[in-house]
Amino acid sequence: MRVLLILSVLLGATLGLENFVGHQVLRISAADEAQVQKVKELEDLEHLQLDFWRGPTRPGSSIDVRVPFPSIQAVKIFLEAHDIPYSIMIEDVQSLLDEEQEQMFAFQARARSTDSFSYATYHTLDEIYSFMDMLVAENPQLVSKMEIGRTYENRPIYVLKFSTGANNRPAIWIDTGIHSREWVTQASGIWFAKKITQDYGQDTVITSILNNMDIFLEIVTNPDGFAFTHSKNRLWRKTRSVTAGSSCVGVDPNRNWDSAFGMPGASNNPCTETYHGKNANSEKEVKSIVDFVKSHGNIKGFISIHSYSQLLLYPYGYTKTPCRDQQELDQLAAAAVKALASLYGTKYTYGSTYTTIYQASGNTVDWTYDQGIKYSYTFELRDTGRYGFLLPASQIIPTAQETWLALLTIMEHVLKNPY
Ligand SMILES: [Zn+2]
Repeated sequence: MRVLLILSVLLGATLGLENFVGHQVLRISAADEAQVQKVKELEDLEHLQLDFWRGPTRPGSSIDVRVPFPSIQAVKIFLEAHDIPYSIMIEDVQSLLDEEQEQMFAFQARARSTDSFSYATYHTLDEIYSFMDMLVAENPQLVSKMEIGRTYENRPIYVLKFSTGANNRPAIWIDTGIHSREWVTQASGIWFAKKITQDYGQDTVITSILNNMDIFLEIVTNPDGFAFTHSKNRLWRKTRSVTAGSSCVGVDPNRNWDSAFGMPGASNNPCTETYHGKNANSEKEVKSIVDFVKSHGNIKGFISIHSYSQLLLYPYGYTKTPCRDQQELDQLAAAAVKALASLYGTKYTYGSTYTTIYQASGNTVDWTYDQGIKYSYTFELRDTGRYGFLLPASQIIPTAQETWLALLTIMEHVLKNPY
């Protein structure tokens, strides 16, 4: 019976879901700028259907790219012809997806409370939305749910508000999953939400934070994209909006903010993963947050969580010019990654987006910083590439636990340094 069920799940998967059989993820080590430019030539060859998971970036840091089966020989020959070293990071993407599906299937029983909810597995949008409702129902004095807007496909966009006092206290914002395929981030967001309700009144740090500030947590920041990662394509990153005149769907919601919009570090080609959209705030998922931040007016820390690469980044991404608060943000980042590493030894790199990874214009935290939110940070959670976006569910809880220590460090600093 069990075998039959699993078979039918797999069959359903092959019917509805895009298939990645034989796709490989290559790790390319471009030694110099000329080799980086060569790899960028590959990016422009649309018929290869390459999906860059990381980079192309500067020489010395690796570029990760998913290569569909029919393109593998061409890409390898190209790299070898130009003496560009590479290794195979993921041998067969589909086999990781199959394991993920089986794991989800094994835990799919619907929880009746947040205590019986399975934090160590990945969940669908419906499951996450019902988790939020349970959490609110169980903790009415502490948690409420706000709808801050609707997506392109008219799904509600929910934010959890954790508050113990009067309205419009200074606040911390945390979002996960603006890039829908970064599943460990939404899963960590769920864990953070439960952790806050468990620790308030028990742990002195979170208690003093919540006695003075509110926390807003948007767990599924790109609901259309997330639903699509479950129904059609596990590796979907962007929104699902339609671009007039193009057959390619979606905008990169981390290039759509009104901060150096459309400058280098984003693409004007709707078929790329970093397409910035036709104008700033064109994506409802972005505009909803912009409106919320502006109308709230008292957000003091803004933390946007991505995966993967194990990085903690602060502004700017659009320019190499250091931001005004560079020194303080850098010191706080150092303290946060130290706290993170204290649990399992997970090593993070930190610095400005521009200097640490690459130029990225129109990104979330450049905008929030320029709005006056000094403590603006981006996380890139586990791992450094062994699994990339397909981090096994067994790593969800450790990832969330260690990240929580970094978040507490940042939030406590915000509390102690009012501005
Ligand atoms: Zn991301």
